[in-house]
Amino acid sequence: MMRTVVAKFGGTSLAGPRQFEAIREIVNKDPDRRFIVVSAPGKRFPDDIKVTDLLLACWEEAAAGNDFEPYLEQVQARFQEIVSRVTPEFPLEQEIAILRNHLQTDPQRDYAASRGEYLNARILADYLGFTFVDPEWCVCFNENGVLDQAMTRRAMGASLRPLKNAVIAGFYGADMNGVIHTLSRGGSDVTGSLAAAAIHADLYENWTDVSGLLAADPKIVMSPKTVRYVSYRELRTLSYMGASVLHTDAVLPVSDMGIPINIRNTLLPEEPGTMIVRKLPKGEKKYPIIAVAGQQGMSVIQIEKVMVSDESGFSAIILDILKNRQLPFEQCLTGIDSVTLVIRSELLSECKEDLFEEIRQKLDPDFLALKENLSMIAVIGEKGTETCDANVRVLQALTRADIQISTINQGAGKLNLLIGVSEEKYEEAIRAIYQTI
Ligand code: ASP
Repeated sequence: MMRTVVAKFGGTSLAGPRQFEAIREIVNKDPDRRFIVVSAPGKRFPDDIKVTDLLLACWEEAAAGNDFEPYLEQVQARFQEIVSRVTPEFPLEQEIAILRNHLQTDPQRDYAASRGEYLNARILADYLGFTFVDPEWCVCFNENGVLDQAMTRRAMGASLRPLKNAVIAGFYGADMNGVIHTLSRGGSDVTGSLAAAAIHADLYENWTDVSGLLAADPKIVMSPKTVRYVSYRELRTLSYMGASVLHTDAVLPVSDMGIPINIRNTLLPEEPGTMIVRKLPKGEKKYPIIAVAGQQGMSVIQIEKVMVSDESGFSAIILDILKNRQLPFEQCLTGIDSVTLVIRSELLSECKEDLFEEIRQKLDPDFLALKENLSMIAVIGEKGTETCDANVRVLQALTRADIQISTINQGAGKLNLLIGVSEEKYEEAIRAIYQTI
């Protein structure tokens, strides 16, 4: 039975003509890949400049009344490199002239920034022989520039359903007055997710330059394994801890409908990548712990008072103090006579003394202390942390490596185990825990 796959290709996957050829091969290999969403050309090499950044530079110069032509020439050269090889008939000069005219007469930031995706999608549509779909007509923003997801789903569904296949430009849309608005950076992931939700796709493929989510930071662990399956919830924790493969707003539209996301590598298309799913397919053995991630720059505030546990309002006062100061906290752990707060150190740098003074005045604690230079490690795995075996192995690994644990926390949701260790021991702890995966 024919399935419907939405395949989104990121900037590095569309950086130059060779990548366009690779994409054509990938798309032609599977006729289910009917709807293709694209980013603007990204970096071809580490010091290269993304086309979106060149376009933003054009706009900045134009808005300041300066000469933007050198940047526009670079934009044109990037696309020229692509069209010369893949679509020599493409009217690039005409398109650049339209952009030049816009920049000269009424430069708008979002319009300028969106032209990388617009041109890339048109070129790829020509190259593949697919219909070009301009999100100007089906990705809907309100007049304040906020995406209207419900309206977008309806409009996108109506635009895409009658088509056999199409290339859709990512990253932008328009409001009722036709004014172009962009999503936040990396937003083509979101366009892809919205398209997949709108047409009830069977799968949302996200093609990038890595073979999926890694089980640990490769700067700390040498060649960590790729995570084969991850749940939407686990992914959210991983993203929160800094592992970025996907725009965070890209998960919700598809997870709401249970559409799986497959992270794939354009350079190694035969690799299966990572599947982000609601539930594991039957028979698929789940690794108990799927990944370990962490963040440095944490501080711990320890507040102790005998009989705290009998004073029901104690924690409420603490939370109130934080709320009034608009000071978010990462964790709040309560013990019999103590409350421990984990807060990002940078948020405390300006207000520590004041905050301590307020705590002293309002709570009169027996003991109040601040511990700095901590890191927080998340051991992630919905299934893994359900069994005490996995927790035991993690703790054993840390003990063997002689790493002292400052805080430890596992909520009833059991999605992850959060362990605080000193920054000095951070990398060692990550490596020790990785061995248990
Ligand atoms: N081209 C845009 C950016 O560089 C959007 C995207 O790539 O998704 O952020």
